[in-house]
Amino acid sequence: MAICVANYFRKVDIQMKLSKYLAPTLRDVPAEAEISSHQLMLRAGLMRKLASGVYSYLPLGLRALKKVENIVRAGMDSHGAQELLMSALLPKEYYEQSGRWEVFGEDMFRLKDRGSRDFCLGPTHEEIFTDTVKNNIHSYKQLPVTLYQIQTKYRDERRPRFGVIRSREFIMKDAYSFDRDQAGLDASYDNMYKAYCSIFDAMELDYLAVDADSGAMGGSGSQEFMVKSDIGEDTIAYCTCGYCANEEKAQCVAGTPDTAEMKALNKIHTPNSRTIDELVESLNTTAKSFAKTLIYRADDKLVAVMLRGDREVNETKLKNHLGALELELASADDVVRVTGAPVGFAGPVGLKEKITVLADNEVAAMKNFVIGANEGDYHFENANIGRDFEPDFVGDFRNITEGDICPVCGKAEIKTCRGIEVGHIFKLGTKYTEAMNCTVLNENGKDQTLIMGCYGIGVSRCLAAIIEQHSDENGIVWPMSVAPYHVAVVPVNVKDETQSKLAEEIYNELISKGVEAVLDDRDERVGVKFKDADLIGYPLRITVGKKAAEGIVEYKERKSGDMQELTVDDAVAKVLDAVR
Ligand code: ATP
Ligand code: MG
Repeated sequence: MAICVANYFRKVDIQMKLSKYLAPTLRDVPAEAEISSHQLMLRAGLMRKLASGVYSYLPLGLRALKKVENIVRAGMDSHGAQELLMSALLPKEYYEQSGRWEVFGEDMFRLKDRGSRDFCLGPTHEEIFTDTVKNNIHSYKQLPVTLYQIQTKYRDERRPRFGVIRSREFIMKDAYSFDRDQAGLDASYDNMYKAYCSIFDAMELDYLAVDADSGAMGGSGSQEFMVKSDIGEDTIAYCTCGYCANEEKAQCVAGTPDTAEMKALNKIHTPNSRTIDELVESLNTTAKSFAKTLIYRADDKLVAVMLRGDREVNETKLKNHLGALELELASADDVVRVTGAPVGFAGPVGLKEKITVLADNEVAAMKNFVIGANEGDYHFENANIGRDFEPDFVGDFRNITEGDICPVCGKAEIKTCRGIEVGHIFKLGTKYTEAMNCTVLNENGKDQTLIMGCYGIGVSRCLAAIIEQHSDENGIVWPMSVAPYHVAVVPVNVKDETQSKLAEEIYNELISKGVEAVLDDRDERVGVKFKDADLIGYPLRITVGKKAAEGIVEYKERKSGDMQELTVDDAVAKVLDAVR
C-alpha cells in the first residue's frame, strides 16, 4: 500500500539559501570511514562524529532522518499501531524483574542518580511497555493492541563501526503487540510484516525478509528484514525455491552416511600440525577427511563440539542447544587441562575430563576420519563413531555454505549473500508478561497472561542503508521519498543579476507549490556548486545560466544524469511531476 508521509516539512521550508546553510561538505574521504555510506554521510555534511559510535546530525542529515522516521511512522499508523514515547532513562527495577539487568552485561550503559539509585540508558524497552500495559489495560475487551515509539537507544557495542550502521546511540522504532492467544499474536505479527514491507518499499530499499533465530528461550517465529549489501554483517542463505534464512538460523541437511568398511584405529605422528591446513598438507589429504574437535566454554561449563574439518561452528545453534547465555572458545589453559595436550590436538577419544561431546550431523555420517589424539603431536586416523567413541548428542551445529542442499526443497543448491539488518519482527511469547505478571481479565473473570510480539526498525541504520544502496562515484543518489531536499536551484554566476533574479523566482515558486528546494546562492565557481549538488544528492537540479534572459534553464535528474534545456514553466512543471 502507498504511504502518505505526514507533511512535517512545509512549515519549516521558508528560506533555504545555501550561502547561510550549515552543509559543510568535504572533498577528501575521512580516514575513519571504511564504507561508502559512512564516507558520504560525513562528506555530504549530514553528520559529524562526537565519540566512537556517537554522532551529531547536521541540518541535511536531520532532514533525511526525519523523512525516514516519518515513513516508519506512517507505515505503523496505517497498520493500526499507536505511537507513544517512553523515557530513555530507565530505573534498574524493571530490568531486574526480567533478569536482563544481568543479561545485558557490558552492552548496557548504567548510571546512578544523586541518591545512588541505579538507572540505565534503555537498550530496548520490552520491560517498560509490558509494565505500561500491565498497569493500564485490564480487560480482554481492550485487546489486541500494538504500541510503538521512535526513540533514542543506547548500547555500548563492543565494536561500533560503519557510522550509524552500528553506533552506540541510535534511533530505533520499537513496537510491541499484546494479544490473548497465539492466533491473535499470529495476526498481529502478520500485520507488522505487511507494515514493514510497505515501509521498506517506500524507502526504496532492496531487501529480503529472512527467517531468523528466536534464541534459546524460544519464541515461535522471527524474521529479519535484510538490505542486500556486500558490507552487511549478516550472511543470508537463500534458494531458488524461495527459502531464505539468516546463516545463524539456516538448517543444514544431514549428509548421506558413508558406507565404507571400518579400518583399524591408528595413532599417527603429526609434528607441528595443529591446524587443519597444516594437517591437510602434512598428510596429503583433504579437510573433509578430518573431524575437528573444538572446546567451548558455555557459561561455566566446558563442552566439545565436533565438525567436519572444512566446516565452521554455528555458535547460535550451539548456544541455543545448550541454553547458554555466554559462549566462547575455551582458554588455552582449559584446553590443556581437559585434553592433556596443547591446543590443536583435541579429540573425543581419551579426554582427561568428562565433558559433553556434541557431534555435527555430518560427522555422524563419516567413516574412517582423522581426529586429535589428546596428545601433543599426535592424531588418530580411521576413527569411527560407535566403535571408538560415542558423542553425547548428534545435531546441526554448523554454518550453512554455498552449494549445500536447500533444507526446504531438498533439491537446489543454497546460495549466500550479505545483508544489513534494518528490521526484526519476533513472536516473543510470554517471556516478559510472565516475568512481570502482565495479565487481563478474560470473559470468565479469570486472569490471563498476555502474549507479546516485538518489532524493531533501526531508523538511523536505515538512513545509512539507503545511502549504501543509492549512491555512485559522485555522491548520494537519494530516492525522492527520503531526500533532504527535492531540488537545488543553481545560478551559474550569482553576480549576474538576471541569473540570480530568475533563480530566486524559480526557487520561490517551487517552495510556494510545496516543493522542498534549496537555492545555491553562494559566490562559488559553478563547478564547486555542481560537485556539492551531486555529493549531497538532490534528486533534481535546475541550473540558471547564460540563457536566463530568454527564460531557458537546464533541468537535470541526479539518478539518470539526463539533462534538458527547458522553459522555466516546463522545468517547474517537470519538478512538480517528479516530486508528486
Ligand atoms: P544486531 O544484530 O545488528 O546487533 P540486534 O539483533 O541487536 O541487531 P534488535 O535488538 O533486534 O537488534 O534491534 C532492532 C533494530 O535496531 C535492528 O534490526 C537494527 O536495525 C537496529 N540496531 C540494533 N543495534 C544497532 C546499533 N548498534 N546501531 C544502529 N542500529 C542498531
Ligand atoms: Mg545487537
